[in-house]
Amino acid sequence: MDCMADRAGRKRLKSLFRARLHVSGIVQGVGFRPFVYRLASRYGLTGFIGNTADGVVIEVQSDETAVLESFRRDLELEAPSLARVFSVQEQSLEPLDEQGFHIVASGPSEGVETLVPPDIALCADCRRELFDPSDRRYRYPFINCTNCGPRYTIVESIPYDRPSTTMKGFRMCPSCLVEYRDPLDRRFHAQPDACHECGPSLQFVDSSGTEVSSGGDPLLTAIGRLREGAIVAVKGIGGFHLAVDACNEHAVRLLRKRKGRDAKPFAVMARDIAAVRRVACVGDVEEEALISPAAPVVILHKREPFLLSSLVAPGNPSIGMMLPYSPLHYLLMNDGPEFLVMTSANASEEPIMTDNGEALEKLRGIADFFLMHNRPIHIRCDDSVTVCLDGELRQIRRSRGYVPSPVMVSSNGLPVLAVGAEIKNTVCLLKKDQALLSQHIGDLKNFDAYENFLMTSRHLQEIFQSTPEIVACDLHPLYMASDWARQQSGMQCVEVQHHHAHLGACLAENRHDGPVIGIILDGAGFGSDGTVWGGEVLLGHIGDFERYASLEPLPLPGGDSAVFHPWKTAAGYLFHAGCDVADRHIFDGRQVDVVVEMIERSLNTPFTSSCGRLFDAVAALCGICPDTSYEGQAAVELMNVAGGRMDGSSFSYEIDTFSSQVARLLVVPLVRDVVSALDHGTDICEVSRRFHVTIVTMFCDIAVRASRASGLKTVALSGGVFQNSLIFEGMVDRLRRAGLQVLTHSLVPCNDGGISLGQAVIARRRVTSDE
Ligand SMILES: [Zn+2]
Ligand SMILES: [Zn+2]
Repeated sequence: MDCMADRAGRKRLKSLFRARLHVSGIVQGVGFRPFVYRLASRYGLTGFIGNTADGVVIEVQSDETAVLESFRRDLELEAPSLARVFSVQEQSLEPLDEQGFHIVASGPSEGVETLVPPDIALCADCRRELFDPSDRRYRYPFINCTNCGPRYTIVESIPYDRPSTTMKGFRMCPSCLVEYRDPLDRRFHAQPDACHECGPSLQFVDSSGTEVSSGGDPLLTAIGRLREGAIVAVKGIGGFHLAVDACNEHAVRLLRKRKGRDAKPFAVMARDIAAVRRVACVGDVEEEALISPAAPVVILHKREPFLLSSLVAPGNPSIGMMLPYSPLHYLLMNDGPEFLVMTSANASEEPIMTDNGEALEKLRGIADFFLMHNRPIHIRCDDSVTVCLDGELRQIRRSRGYVPSPVMVSSNGLPVLAVGAEIKNTVCLLKKDQALLSQHIGDLKNFDAYENFLMTSRHLQEIFQSTPEIVACDLHPLYMASDWARQQSGMQCVEVQHHHAHLGACLAENRHDGPVIGIILDGAGFGSDGTVWGGEVLLGHIGDFERYASLEPLPLPGGDSAVFHPWKTAAGYLFHAGCDVADRHIFDGRQVDVVVEMIERSLNTPFTSSCGRLFDAVAALCGICPDTSYEGQAAVELMNVAGGRMDGSSFSYEIDTFSSQVARLLVVPLVRDVVSALDHGTDICEVSRRFHVTIVTMFCDIAVRASRASGLKTVALSGGVFQNSLIFEGMVDRLRRAGLQVLTHSLVPCNDGGISLGQAVIARRRVTSDE
């Protein structure tokens, strides 16, 4: 009998087909396994699916190959919205005698490529449950499921399972456990899953750490205080925010005073998209971004009359807005003020705070109350900041919601760790064809930011299981990150010039190898010749570049400190242009003679071809922002007085192609023209418009010459100056009309936050071509 059964079994097996599919990409923590389970059940397949360290492995079996093919097709077509399938490797296997389809436990980590997903805003299903009085998670501030919730910020190590997250201290109650184990449940293997019974909880305390909602609801108490105008520190997904009612003039003023922040705009969270529309103009691209799972801050044009306190973004036609993204935010906004200022809680330039004790200690004197919870944040992550320019969403600060999703690049090869620039620092781990950029880390001159830089570099290597063989850094002799990189043994260190890194970042995200013409405009970067560069036209590709042209180098009295004193830069440029410095009103009450003497005696007065400083100088000449409280403020305010328009004739400029190898865009005629226009009583709005026209005209002029000389037809735009919408859109338009193809940033910031990507691809190319 046994023998006959065996034979029948073998015969049946012979008519079966079995395949193993190895899927890599973002397929963990995004509901992929339940999806595959349902799909396999629909096609009547047997087999299993499990997480591996490099994605998921699926084995499926059927008596028809066509059915397996359909399954294979739908696997990609119908994948959950948050999943990203990069590759599917297929292999046929001997059929097995088995029943049903199963989800198997995560295997031990052996390979490479697990992708930790970014933090995901509350999904529509969870939102419905949050406000459903009959749901067991009604008003639970930490509700989440496979399609939403914290991810990157709570992951301590891989594989991505509960014990390796900051949820490990919370033991699931029986009801949660049932959902967690049911392959057909929306919370199957949702690692941060929890409920009122078993999960994290809220606490509302005053600045001495004393519970003030005793007996009451911490959330409702917090809302009451916000309505009264208090400043409340709110612990969110990637760190603490300082929240105040955005319509309460007094509260916003108090926040500015206590935070010591005069002018820099605050971001605002609005209850819903309809509320956003009452305050600002929202286009399709902007709406899509606001309601996306990443839920970034989106910079929008204010509507007049402006409903919120004018102190939210004083003197600025734009306002950064976002929608609630965690359930806690939804509860706050649903019952509380319709608009809350939500600004990162940090002492100036320090990283955003994540720890309850640290917040209580460091925010004492700023926050009146603290709305906290006991789910630890492992990785600090600021809100991402985006803007729509030329019809596309652009990153200004790429952080929560986007990190650590990879930017796919066209090269493949040795793993690289790139350590970024000094300010707006990010790091980038380049692994195969995936560039894994970190969240915004900040200014490394700050000790806590530097610590965060070290921790993040280590963490990325751990969670992505990669040991870099190359470390890439900026050429600058004194950058903290470069210093660290040069001290690493065991990794080959490659120094990359700052503006070449900008160019490389733009090429990499466009999957373009070059050569191209690069117009790279920013504040300052260390040049290959040891001077400070910043208004550059490069000819180059990923591997190498040549400096084709630059702004004329002008004196910068006080060096780096001039960033906060545009009047000094103006004095330097005027002096160099042979204009009368002493007589101008903008220098009244300032020690302009000391500055002139510094220039004459070459004391701490480097020369720079910076583009940012040229904006500063012109802003100061116009009487806008003689001193600034944040980097780039003068340029922002100069752009704002143009009122969104760029018209009128260009000021004079000249291109000198004879005096040196590098063509020089002469700034002296421009400075003289600006002075003359102002002296003739030209309105500063008009001066600003004409100045913007000049920058665009001048750089397009040189780009067209570079194109004729080199035969190149593609121009890449990078550097922080391109955050200026007039310059960016004006330049793109003019270059296109000149018949040139334009490459721009959209995935990573054009500012120094994107530098690490450029460093990584350039370093890999240079090492590879040296071999
Ligand atoms: Zn959900
Ligand atoms: Zn529970």
